Parts: sequence; structure tokens; C-alpha cells
Amino acid sequence: MQRTLLPNHQVQRTSDYKCSAPYYPTMQLPGLTDIHVHLREPGATHKEDFATGTAAALAGGVTTVLAMPNTQPPLVDAASFALARQAAEAKAHCDYGLYLGATLINAPQIAALASQAAGLKLYLDATYGPLLLDDMAAWAAHLEHWPRSRPIVAHAEGKTMAALLFFAALHGRHVHICHVSRRDEILLIKAAKEKGYPVTCEVTPHHLFLSTADVPAIGAGRAEVRPRLASPADVQALWDNLDVIDCFATDHAPHTLAEKDSANPPSGFPGLETALPLLLTAAYEGRLTVDDIITRMHTNPRRIFGLPAQPETSVEVDVGEWHHIQAADCRSRSGWTPFEGRPVRARVRRVILRGQEVYRDGQVLSSPGFGKNIRIGI
Ligand SMILES: [Zn+2]
Repeated sequence: MQRTLLPNHQVQRTSDYKCSAPYYPTMQLPGLTDIHVHLREPGATHKEDFATGTAAALAGGVTTVLAMPNTQPPLVDAASFALARQAAEAKAHCDYGLYLGATLINAPQIAALASQAAGLKLYLDATYGPLLLDDMAAWAAHLEHWPRSRPIVAHAEGKTMAALLFFAALHGRHVHICHVSRRDEILLIKAAKEKGYPVTCEVTPHHLFLSTADVPAIGAGRAEVRPRLASPADVQALWDNLDVIDCFATDHAPHTLAEKDSANPPSGFPGLETALPLLLTAAYEGRLTVDDIITRMHTNPRRIFGLPAQPETSVEVDVGEWHHIQAADCRSRSGWTPFEGRPVRARVRRVILRGQEVYRDGQVLSSPGFGKNIRIGI
């Protein structure tokens, strides 16, 4: 793989990453968890499947993915859930969990499947897929039925998020807010936390590193994503409130380039392979620390979702040279990235998962099916 050095490049010490370690050309991280990915199987495997999506995860230093249920069919009952579980069991290169999706009528039935699920996803604002839950009576039914031993996560923007936080408070239970992207949202979550409400949240790398100012360069169709890219002031508010953000999650949502460039482009960005290089580059620039990344992509996901430890698991990252993000280097079937050409200073070299070398220098070494379902036993 060709590397491009920027002009005036200087080899830096990893201490520039606000890491106390002495100089190494590489740094070692724990296996990361991405709690929000769309792997498109079943139903849209021309965009991604469990094999390509989990290979992309390993290339990004991610050893556990939690996959969303807005597939075709959506994962909203025992039969569809079994379909996805079987596909993942046969194909996954890294460990994984599967969410169930809430519908207007399935609260009691899916609650019975909760022990096998990563969590329950509530789609309270419109996005890609058929799972919009626009009836508050259904919100209440899910908050009542879903066991407290498994998280409820929600796509809820703006006023919808405020309404959900109120519902959750009434029911006295935790909710996790997906892909927070705006100043008023992060400030509301901050206020809720200060009052002691049990809410957690995630922010995507694309909402940290892209704004409306980037839309012309990306192209209007390709820039379609939900929540939409926000203003530079919103992006700054996320950075200013980093301590309110519990997790970084990619919302890896692959569509093919032909689909993104069509007259009716679907919303979503791939993100599994670019998250860690972007975040470590931000650490190099002093915008956050390596520990901030580990907390939000390892420690907090494990705590919030009750994930099992992955013994003998580590990620080795080369932090010595600049290079440019290129879709051509990526394993996701989507074949593009909104970060094309962006200079970054970190590249995943090697991943060890449960004692086995599963990725080295661009090659995924684990077999399909090596990945384990985190709810069945690692
Ligand atoms: Zn999503």
C-alpha cells in the first residue's frame, strides 16, 4: 500500500498524543467496540454483509460491533432475528451483537428475546428503513416491557429526544441516545445528567469532523446522512462538551457509490475504517487524549451494554507517518468515504482477538465465523 508523507513531515513521539508512554512508532490499544453499525444483512448485501462489515471493523481496530436491526426484513421478531443470527454466526470475522427493533405492536414479543439481543432500538425520527415509531403509546409499551438488564437505544433528535428523556424519567429507566449532533441536544443531555437522570449518549466521528461547510466538497447526495451534518457551531459544541459524550460510535451505514450518486440518494456514511485514524489524529492535535478514545470506544461501551471481556485482545496502531484516507484502501463494500483525501496520522497495523492474529497490514486473517455473538458467550 502506497503511503504519502506530507511536506515537512517530522517523526513525532507518541507522547504528542498526550500519552504518557515513551516513544514508540506504534501504540497498543485494547480491542475497540462500535455500538452502532449497519451491516445490511439480511436484505441488502450488495451494500455490506456480515463478512465485509466485520472485516472493515478489524481494519479499523474494532473487535466488537453491535449491529442495528433496520435490515430487510427488519429484526423485529423471532424469525427475522434468527435469520440475522445465522448469517452472522457463519460470516462474522469479529465479535458482534445484534439489536432488536421496536415496532408499534411487538413490545411483549421482543422483550422475550431480550437476553439474546445487544439491546432494543427505538427509531423515533425518520431514517433509512421502515421502523419509525411515531406513536407515543408504543414508546411507553417498550419502556414497560423491555427488561432493565438490556439497554434501550434511540434515534431521537431535538424535541423528540426531549420527549423520550421525559418518558424515560417517568419510567425510571436508562436510555442511550444515538448519534447526538447538535448543540441543543448535547446541552439537554448534559442538563439531564446533572439532574441525575440515567441517560448516556454517543457521537459519531462524522459529526465531530464534518459540518455543513463540508457538504459542497462531499457533494449533496453523498452528504445525505441522518442526523444531517450540523453547523460548525454545533460541531464545536460537541467538542466543548466532550465530557458529556459517553461513546464514540460510527453509525457505519454503507450504501454503494451508485446509490449515493443517484437521483434519490439514501442517507448514511461508512465509518468503521476511518474512525480510529481520525480520532487518533485529533489526539495528536491535542483536541482529546488517547484515554478519551479508549474510554468511549472500549470502557464505556462495555459498561453500558454489559459486554463480556475479550481476553488476549489488542490493537497495534502505527502513529509514525501521515497518509491520506482513501476508499481504495477500505474493505467495506460501500466503496467510498466522505473523508476521502483527509490526512491522518494513524493506521491500524495488527489486531489480536482472543489470542489469535486476525488482522495484519491490510489483510484480514480470521476466517468467516470466527466472530462470536457477545450474548451467547465468548
Ligand atoms: Zn444508524
